[in-house]
Amino acid sequence: MTTKAREQQSFGENPVDVRETDHYTDEYVKGFVDKWDELIDWDSRAKSEGTFFIDKLRELGVKKVLDVAAGTGFHSVRLLEAGFEVVSADGSPQMLYKAFENARRRGHVLRTVQADWRWLNRDVHGEYDAIICLGNSFTHLFAEHDRRKALAEFYAMLKHDGVLMLDQRNYDGILDNGYDSKHQYYYCGDNVSVAPVHVDEGLARFRYQFPDESEYFLNMFPLRKDYTRKLMKDVGFQQIDTFGDFQQTYKDQDPDFYIHVASKA
Ligand code: SAM
Repeated sequence: MTTKAREQQSFGENPVDVRETDHYTDEYVKGFVDKWDELIDWDSRAKSEGTFFIDKLRELGVKKVLDVAAGTGFHSVRLLEAGFEVVSADGSPQMLYKAFENARRRGHVLRTVQADWRWLNRDVHGEYDAIICLGNSFTHLFAEHDRRKALAEFYAMLKHDGVLMLDQRNYDGILDNGYDSKHQYYYCGDNVSVAPVHVDEGLARFRYQFPDESEYFLNMFPLRKDYTRKLMKDVGFQQIDTFGDFQQTYKDQDPDFYIHVASKA
């Protein structure tokens, strides 16, 4: 990388006013990215997630996967190790750098591309059987036209019968009933505290506190489940199955996360 990695997050005078799609690259600064794997402890995460995505992808006969929110590489590496062909994209160079290092340490050379979802087809080439956008990533898009554009770019990169797997926090539960994270499906690091500090219909601002007393924030758009499903339908996906915390049946308040599996055919 030619640019020096930024160390500090910057949300300005009034952090709850920061509601911009472009801000995500300023939020994943080096210190936060370095701690990200503490936050999402790979071993516990793999254990709680089980083989949900691997099983689903195999069931669907998927071979070629594009991970559009590679982050530090957790899913890309798991899928590589399960025998899938994987290309790993992310808009954040910090994240991709970390993903590449993580994969190298496990004996893989990750095929990485820096790409923002809104211009994905410009920077990533080829057609894929599946696209994954996991770890509550889609929530970083603040404008509806950005969400539609990103989904349209995903749709265009899929084969005629391809699938998109996209997950999100259960924001309906948080908006309607407050935050209650009894489940620890994704954020399994033991000593890391994750909680919202501000929630309204246009913003969910979360704080991540680490054992060394450092803290970082993410400003996200609180996607309601049915709204996300509708956007996927609008873009052209034919069938959308929504799972709660990796289970097919869920009560609306219970899951921390939803996983949408959207098919083109
Ligand atoms: N999927 C990883 C995981 O589960 O650990 C990372 C999740 S992290 C919450 C969200 C990721 O989405 C970050 O790596 C961020 O850089 C990426 N991201 C957010 N908005 C993006 C955009 N518009 N284009 C490309 N990547 C984006």
